[in-house]
Amino acid sequence: MSTELNASIVPTKYWHALDDGRIQCDLCPRFCKLREGQRGFCFVRARQDDQVVLTTYGRSSGFCVDPIEKKPLYHFLPGTPILSFGTAGCNLGCKFCQNWDISKSRELDTLADLASPGRIAGAADRLGCRGVAFTYNDPVIFHEYAIDVALACRERGIRAVAVTAGEVCAGPRAEFYRHMDAANVDLKGFTERFYREVAAGHLQPVLETLEYLKHETDVWFELTTLLIPGQNDSDAELDAMTGWVVDRLGPDVPMHFTAFHPDYRMQETPVTPPATLRRARGIALRNGVRYAYVGNVHDPEADSTICHSCGTLLVGRDWYELTTWGLSPDGRCPSCGTPCAGVFEPEPGRWGRKRLPVSLKGTD
Ligand code: SF4
Repeated sequence: MSTELNASIVPTKYWHALDDGRIQCDLCPRFCKLREGQRGFCFVRARQDDQVVLTTYGRSSGFCVDPIEKKPLYHFLPGTPILSFGTAGCNLGCKFCQNWDISKSRELDTLADLASPGRIAGAADRLGCRGVAFTYNDPVIFHEYAIDVALACRERGIRAVAVTAGEVCAGPRAEFYRHMDAANVDLKGFTERFYREVAAGHLQPVLETLEYLKHETDVWFELTTLLIPGQNDSDAELDAMTGWVVDRLGPDVPMHFTAFHPDYRMQETPVTPPATLRRARGIALRNGVRYAYVGNVHDPEADSTICHSCGTLLVGRDWYELTTWGLSPDGRCPSCGTPCAGVFEPEPGRWGRKRLPVSLKGTD
């Protein structure tokens, strides 16, 4: 094993020894039970020398400056650039994974960029980014690295954003979100069947994470549901999901309904029709969700933010680009004065829709 790879291995604390000699990882509800030398389902956590270690600390699958709208976050510093990266592995097994080359990676050598937390925060600062996003794969599994990056970012006034499926145990969840400023959480469906059969996960821990975020933190969060024809797009499921969101999280949590494209192990399933996205958005709005959007399709009207009180256009979008900015400097509707939920500054960012791949090699 190379010195570089050894430097990526760090001890972790969320595990305990079982009576039968195995060690159980307690980071996520998968609770992998490991014998010496075994890796967990996520592949990046493993048992070594009678403890669970993270094997990818400081290793990234590549960096890109994205519009924050791409996470998607529409109500958190709109128009600003965010330095985005992931690592390898995942604690879910979605058949439809749109990032499977990263999430299912078994080749740690593909993690090309070796980047310390300080290097990442410094690069974000230098590139004019307002935030760093843990994305492409789920930061739950690189918990220690993500927290250290968030700490380094905070020292420079840079926000930390998690893009996650929300499958994490209560103890690590509380520690993790103490360091996050915003999150986009996948609410992949609203039945245990869907989670079990299509995502190899569970719905209940995700709902607990969402309630935790809403009621016990100040983290700004939005929800994303990838609608897959015939799997999670029925009126009944969308009605139950959006009703639960309003009832348990309130009307101000934005929901994004995005289009599926055939990928990974779901090559035979057709693309989501735009009408399905509009139907989901309509159900959400009827159930009281104030901000419901569509994604992965060109639909400027359904991607724009409207004042829920008087209908004034507040923020217009075309793909990931802002086309209209109508919010008052204190984040209110200019017509009726109703506040728009979110984290806004007097002026929007001007990053636009571009994506800028960057290398952090040699930037310390
Ligand atoms: S974090 Fe990884 S090793 Fe730990 S329980 Fe989840 S999948 Fe298993």
